[in-house]
Amino acid sequence: MIPFDFDYYKPSTVEEALQIFETVSGKNKKVIYYSGGTEFITFARTQTIYADAVIDIKGIPDCHVLEQKDDQLIIGSSVTLNMISDSNIFPLLGEKVKGIADHTSRNKITIGGNMNSHLIYKEGILPLLLSDANVKIAGKNGEEVQPLNDIFNMNFQLEKEQFLVQIYIDTSYTDLPFFTLKKTKFSQVGYPVVSLAAMVKDHRIRAAFSGVCEYPFRSEEIEMLLNDSSLSEADKVEQAINKLPSPIIGDIQASAEYREFVFRNALIETLETLELKK
Ligand SMILES: Cc1cc2nc3c(=O)[nH]c(=O)nc-3n(C[C@H](O)[C@H](O)[C@H](O)COP(=O)(O)OP(=O)(O)OC[C@H]3O[C@@H](n4cnc5c(N)ncnc54)[C@H](O)[C@@H]3O)c2cc1C
Repeated sequence: MIPFDFDYYKPSTVEEALQIFETVSGKNKKVIYYSGGTEFITFARTQTIYADAVIDIKGIPDCHVLEQKDDQLIIGSSVTLNMISDSNIFPLLGEKVKGIADHTSRNKITIGGNMNSHLIYKEGILPLLLSDANVKIAGKNGEEVQPLNDIFNMNFQLEKEQFLVQIYIDTSYTDLPFFTLKKTKFSQVGYPVVSLAAMVKDHRIRAAFSGVCEYPFRSEEIEMLLNDSSLSEADKVEQAINKLPSPIIGDIQASAEYREFVFRNALIETLETLELKK
């Protein structure tokens, strides 16, 4: 049971959503956007999140788009993880999100919710960082399209009233050779000890990671090492560890030492799989 009352709004346009946000938050009330709702409900039950009002963006048609238009894939922020994997519209993204939670939860969890989660994993973002995706953000200044790599730095850098409407991916990225891996503590379903997505673009390996540090990331420095033909495989991996953007985390899933061990093996597997496809 959720131990507090909150108002529920379901706008049918982006403008209406922003208007509701402004009006309700103007009354000094805490308002949050709501997509699949799984995280909000879970955290509300344990009182780790509070809201006076939620704005359910699932009523906005733009947030439900899942289509290819000319040379762009368009994915609405309220599209569920199962819809993405079932559509096979972007195989790397489909494979990556298939590893998140169980099938029933993936009928509810949305890509926008995953990318804006308060949890550190946000695995769905990894293929999008690799494919130079753009995102449409709605806010005070209307709707703006920006490169994801600019607006995502540890977390989505959104103002309070802003929300993610759509994701755009150039179709030239969708059939590139890729590799994806997720290692968990026990079973297939679980938070990642290490999660990785990698692809080959222009004869170079690109790689992004989740579960290793406090946030998901793509690192140009690590990619340079992985593509440095003067280094042995062992040196690439060794030096990549030193280029991690922040310390390796240790928690209930795995100690930092074990995560480092898994990360090393993940890089070796990536190199062995993708070197041949460069
Ligand atoms: C059983 C289970 C297992 C899980 N395992 C994993 C895992 O292995 N890896 C992983 O990465 N994640 C995992 N998760 C986490 C899950 O991906 C997140 O909790 C995700 O936020 C849920 O998506 P949702 O659509 O239900 O989000 P919601 O509850 O609707 O929203 C979550 C947060 O995102 C914000 N938000 C939602 N949509 C938008 C938007 N369009 N624009 C701006 N902000 C927005 C909300 O305000 C809220 O703060 C798991 C969750 C469950 C329930």
